[in-house]
Amino acid sequence: MHPQDQITEVIGRIYRAGLTTTSGGNISVIDRQGDIWVTPTAIDKGTLQRKDIVCVKRDGTVKGYHRPSSEFPFHKAIYEARPDIRAIVHAHPPALVSFSIVRQIPDMNIIPQARHICGPIGYAGYALPGGEELGKEIAGQFGKGFHAVIMENHGTVVGGSDLKDAYVRFETLEFSARTLIGAKTIGEPRYLTDEQISEFESQIPEDIPEMEEVEHTPEEQSIRRNIALLVRRACDQGLMISSYGNMSVRWQGNDFLITPRDVPRWEMGLEDIIQIREGKREPGKLPSRSLMLHAGIYEAHPEVNSIILTQAPNIMSFGVSHTKLDVRTIPESWVFLQDIISVEFGKQFAGDPTIPGLISKNRPAVIVQNDGIIVTGDKLLQTFDRLEVAEFSAKSLVMGHPLGELVPISPDQIEDLRRKFLS
Ligand SMILES: [Zn+2]
Repeated sequence: MHPQDQITEVIGRIYRAGLTTTSGGNISVIDRQGDIWVTPTAIDKGTLQRKDIVCVKRDGTVKGYHRPSSEFPFHKAIYEARPDIRAIVHAHPPALVSFSIVRQIPDMNIIPQARHICGPIGYAGYALPGGEELGKEIAGQFGKGFHAVIMENHGTVVGGSDLKDAYVRFETLEFSARTLIGAKTIGEPRYLTDEQISEFESQIPEDIPEMEEVEHTPEEQSIRRNIALLVRRACDQGLMISSYGNMSVRWQGNDFLITPRDVPRWEMGLEDIIQIREGKREPGKLPSRSLMLHAGIYEAHPEVNSIILTQAPNIMSFGVSHTKLDVRTIPESWVFLQDIISVEFGKQFAGDPTIPGLISKNRPAVIVQNDGIIVTGDKLLQTFDRLEVAEFSAKSLVMGHPLGELVPISPDQIEDLRRKFLS
């Protein structure tokens, strides 16, 4: 993709996700010739088009309809300090700004992929925006090897080997900051040890054998479409981030279709989805690393026909603070979820029988501490709805925490709900 198209797509995503204001934030990509493509200054981020993206040539001449971003000097300084960085995202997303104004660096050891993706994070002291001194401060931090930097009383800047890489890092960083703030609102965050994270990383499943012939029936293809559609929707609704999460749907018997690993979730297409038939996978495709957990749940529960495993910020505030997510909040939450249990980190690893053993009709969702939530159901849309209800419930509990303690629906009222909706 041309740098102008890449930048237009990513700035649109960032704006729609509420991670930048129309005036704040800027993105750049350096091409092979050493020319830098960058967002323009003072143009509405909500309606930015490819022709608005400006090119600053190596010799400093500007090509395009606008002036480059006023923060271009620090983009240039980073590229000079770090030839391995080929794209930069800078913005003022709310949770990272919270860290920047209390002058703290978020600890990435809360979820397994965050440390690996974001790495240790640098910290640049305050300097006047658009000035040379700010460029020096930030480039100095990147010069030490960081890929992400908190800017004091300003925001954040992240670099990547390409724009996709930078965007995934930026999104994971803000997600982790939101989760930490939520966890601190309701309790205290607990962190994973480096050993736990290494253990998680070594969990990439030994790949199951490939099938020789692939059969795509119309039903199989409609499942594929459904998964791709709902993955996209989960990303748009803030229920899944690019770097983590998977979905599967039972096809026939214990055969199912599942999302791949290492594909950014928001750009997953139909052809990326992988068929698993009689314990074999489609040739040349790598299924999600939690493949065996999905297979185990389908085998143990004939009534389960779809599974979503994901991280959403408010659910994860519970998952990271090891606080019970009590869904006796409103009738909808209890009827949809009844009882959400949480299990220790490590119980999601391949071959562990704990989670398939806990899932039941009265317990469709399980939280894995510091990892994610597993939601099960019949149709995929029903499972998606359950996930949405879980995140809404968690959000109300986090937001309500400063107001007072939850007064749950009483046991008698729960019995009434059970009789009316679940029998
Ligand atoms: Zn800024």
